[in-house]
Amino acid sequence: MKAKRVPYIVEPEMLRQLAKEKGYLIMAHNYQIPELQRIADFVGDSLQLARQAAETDAEKILFLGVDFMAEMVKALNPEKKVVVPVLCATCPMANSLTEDEIAKAKEKYDAPFVVYVNSTAKTKFLADYLCTSANAVDVVRNVPSDTILFGPDKNLASYVAEKTGKCVIPIPGEFGYCHVHNFVTAEQVLRKLEKYHDAEVMVHPEVPEQVRRLAHFVGSTAQMEKYPMASSSKIFIVVTEVGMVEKLRRLYPDRTFVTIDSMVCYNMKKNNLRNTYRAVLNDAPEVKLDERLAEKIRKLVEDMLKLTVSTQESKK
Ligand code: SF4
Repeated sequence: MKAKRVPYIVEPEMLRQLAKEKGYLIMAHNYQIPELQRIADFVGDSLQLARQAAETDAEKILFLGVDFMAEMVKALNPEKKVVVPVLCATCPMANSLTEDEIAKAKEKYDAPFVVYVNSTAKTKFLADYLCTSANAVDVVRNVPSDTILFGPDKNLASYVAEKTGKCVIPIPGEFGYCHVHNFVTAEQVLRKLEKYHDAEVMVHPEVPEQVRRLAHFVGSTAQMEKYPMASSSKIFIVVTEVGMVEKLRRLYPDRTFVTIDSMVCYNMKKNNLRNTYRAVLNDAPEVKLDERLAEKIRKLVEDMLKLTVSTQESKK
């Protein structure tokens, strides 16, 4: 079928109107460009969005993020149509962990494999447990083993090892990292602190250890959203992808949020107003997921929620 024509300039309101007419619920990740975040019905991290999608009546979801996140949404909402602007918005970190590497690690170490949500559906299929950046420490603490295989992010693995005292073996190892978070340096953060003396530093656990050491707060994007509420600081240096400050500025208009400008995820920025309009107009490309993989993801999410609920209850 011939694709329909897309206007050369797409205004956010035109896109919002078309999505509404065609019955789409719009979900955007925290790292999407501001124009897309502003027209979304929900903005959040990957798990928040996947779970939010399951709670709505909408039969069609327009998902704005990268491929492994769209797979999660599809797995938790198998009966819904999930459309994305482009299929090439992918995550190099998720793609860095192969099925071969997991098989080799499992052969070498007799240990359970905890997979970070930022991974492909095929990788999740081989995992014993799933975690997010918000609950990785709790999940690993609750896994009944002192040695854990953890992938793909080596920096999150190091943070989890520090917090749990367990032997956390990163797979694939040295090359498992998010390029946006891994290459930020302590010097970049210190330079910002020189300029904003009174600022507090919030960092994502995907950053290297030397940057983590400068943080007043370490947490996922969903946790960063809540942190300013508990802090009296007026200025925050936000050490994660630059898109995150859009939401923080909307939530806390009386505070100042400073970005580290090199922290841009070009895959997240592949979605724009025009290709998103085209996707809504044509109801394509649609996310497809093998039911066997989807079933495994649903099971991992269910187990993860049980593991973390028991931790939260014991903390009460
Ligand atoms: S920010 Fe990092 S982990 Fe997230 S999609 Fe981009 S490369 Fe992947």
